Amino acid sequence: MFTDIANAIKTSNNIIILPHKSVDGDCLGSSYALKLGLLKMGKNAEVIVEEKDKDAKFFTIIKDAVSTVSTPDLVIAVDCGDIDRLQSRCDIFKSCEKTVNIDHHGTNDGFAMFNYIDAKSSATGEIIYCLLEYLQVDIDDDIAQNLYIAISSDSGRFSYSNTTLRTHEIAGKLIGFNFDFSYINAFIFDTNSQKELLLAKEALSTLEVLADGKIASVTVTKKVINKYKATDSELGGIVNYPRSIDTVKIAFYFKEVDGGVKVSMRSSGPDVSVIAKKYGGGGHERASGCTLNMPVKKAKKIMYDEAMAVIC
Ligand code: 5GP
Ligand code: MN
Repeated sequence: MFTDIANAIKTSNNIIILPHKSVDGDCLGSSYALKLGLLKMGKNAEVIVEEKDKDAKFFTIIKDAVSTVSTPDLVIAVDCGDIDRLQSRCDIFKSCEKTVNIDHHGTNDGFAMFNYIDAKSSATGEIIYCLLEYLQVDIDDDIAQNLYIAISSDSGRFSYSNTTLRTHEIAGKLIGFNFDFSYINAFIFDTNSQKELLLAKEALSTLEVLADGKIASVTVTKKVINKYKATDSELGGIVNYPRSIDTVKIAFYFKEVDGGVKVSMRSSGPDVSVIAKKYGGGGHERASGCTLNMPVKKAKKIMYDEAMAVIC
């Protein structure tokens, strides 16, 4: 199970942890929980994120501690569905002799030397909880807070269909520690900056509904992104608007990027990871993404046709 990964950790002293680009609650909560756990084992450990992710709003609630790593003897990718999601940090990963990949995306192809991929986990945070238990690390308040951020984020505070008995059992143990889980949930799910709400307003003005209400989308152009200087973390929840329509089976959020469109998909049943994978992306059955190198209009037509084929 965790034997190889535990050995890799035990025999290393300088460990770099790499969450996926466009950070979210799961990759950050999992990475920093692991980092704090490794520090408790006496290791040097550091989490490295993309430059543009450094001011993500999640850092307001993530617990961290000071520690630096010079030359890593182990690099661990966390919550990273494929190696390209490491973006500019691919070099750090590839240049290390020992690599580990801990993830819950079913489309993960096992790109590391040691891989632990469990698509049944609602969040990578569930796997990190079990790994820390396996390593006999004493979970403390800060580690518990980070793990709770991870699991609550990816399970939609225990409401998505990926939520299991184990998800609740782990969360139950975590809230036994001393941190304000109610504040954490309010921060992640119920709190917006003014800018986030203005972005939602712009996005909603682009709402398209088709296929008798089974498909819906919103689009955010580069013009809007530049106007508000919007970051990925500020745009993170946009796809939930088309998804929230009662008749919708597949929801899209199209974000214009340099040379193409980043597509986010959400489903209330059909497996959208198949569509994402076909276009070089990946993810989960009900939440996936990919990037198409073409104008928005063309990307929309392709995605709508794919969705139509899946739901009809
Ligand atoms: P989001 O729509 O929130 O960006 O991503 C939804 C899910 O799909 C996340 O679990 C994310 O990791 C995954 N995902 C999004 N875009 C990509 C992509 O380009 N490649 C892969 N492999 N996974 C993606
Ligand atoms: Mn995740």
